[in-house]
Amino acid sequence: MDLFEYQARDLFEKHGVPVLAAAIATTADEAEVMATKLGGKVVVKAQVKVGGRGKAGGVKLAENPSDAREKAGAILGMDIKGHIVHTVMIAAAAPIESEYYLAILLDRSNRTFLVMASVSGGMDIEEVAHTAPEKLAKIPVSAVDGISATKANEIISAANFPADVADQVANVLVKLWEVFQSEDATLVEVNPLVKTKDGKIIALDGKVTLDDNADFRQPDHEALIDQAAENPLEAVAKEKGLNYVKLDGEVGIIGNGAGLVMSTLDVVAYAGEKHGGVRPANFLDIGGGASAQVMADGLSIILGDRDVKSVFVNVFGGITACDAVATGIVQALELLGSKATKPIVVRLDGNNVMEGRAILNQAAHPLVQQLDTMDGAADRAAELAAK
Ligand code: GDP
Ligand code: MN
Repeated sequence: MDLFEYQARDLFEKHGVPVLAAAIATTADEAEVMATKLGGKVVVKAQVKVGGRGKAGGVKLAENPSDAREKAGAILGMDIKGHIVHTVMIAAAAPIESEYYLAILLDRSNRTFLVMASVSGGMDIEEVAHTAPEKLAKIPVSAVDGISATKANEIISAANFPADVADQVANVLVKLWEVFQSEDATLVEVNPLVKTKDGKIIALDGKVTLDDNADFRQPDHEALIDQAAENPLEAVAKEKGLNYVKLDGEVGIIGNGAGLVMSTLDVVAYAGEKHGGVRPANFLDIGGGASAQVMADGLSIILGDRDVKSVFVNVFGGITACDAVATGIVQALELLGSKATKPIVVRLDGNNVMEGRAILNQAAHPLVQQLDTMDGAADRAAELAAK
């Protein structure tokens, strides 16, 4: 999960990284109130999860509260690379002398963590990385040792930070490592890290990506989710512990095993070409041990998707055999009752396939039809969705 700048700023503050006083606002009126509270000059900054806000006009200095109101009014509602601005951050303005760059990230290709540091920070860091790569120091960081004071000094020399800010930057590096490690981040970036006219080092803009795989041990992170941007069906699926991704098509998909579901999406998209271009409506992997409840949860999410016109349940019986899955489908339809409204094409194969098919035949649910092959079932589901 990517965080908004103001959320990154709050995490920085929590771990002792120097930041400026700030508050968020969703209206121009609120922005004026916040600017009054902060006092003096402020910066009004668009809160969107995309880079290059400065160049797009999403970061503006304001002389006083009424100016902040005006600037916020102009920034709110702005479209920055397809992201509409709903919130602005009002931050105390800093008199900037120099802009530096610091980032800690997961370097997958080298199986390590990496610090990137440069004294040429600011809005053109991508340009610097491209045209003058020697100005961007890259120093591997081991997961075991992290960033100690000694390591921080090594980074500072490699990136040629001036001596007068060395101690402060070292402190920031150690604290940023604390953010990175204790919050389970995969990216912590500060651009710019500034030196103010009175010689202070401050993190002026932060970008943080948290590792969703660590959510189980980071209960506080749930509050950081941008509910407005969450797809409601995906939110329900997450609550139920289902692996569901909403797509744009019309054929609802349920399968067991990520690989099987991925190929099901392909065969449905292919079959759909013959039926007016219908496509898969979602990815849903109900996993190995699919109980009736899991099947019911999955079916109810898919049937709750207005775009869905037909459903394709594609199961290859393994450890959970086809008869158990078929029983799950029958029970799920009982649980759903009149909420089940769309045709369901089922293809069972693998362990105990005959028993599974017999169970579905016997139940003879009016919405369910069985096909023996994956291609045949995909074609039927696409045909039904096209009607
Ligand atoms: P980005 O363009 O999305 O990365 O947004 P930033 O927060 O990095 O802001 C872009 C630029 O605005 C920075 O590089 C600074 O030059 C400038 N800026 C941001 N905050 C302040 C501030 O408090 N004072 C001044 N003078 N400039 C600022
Ligand atoms: Mn920036």
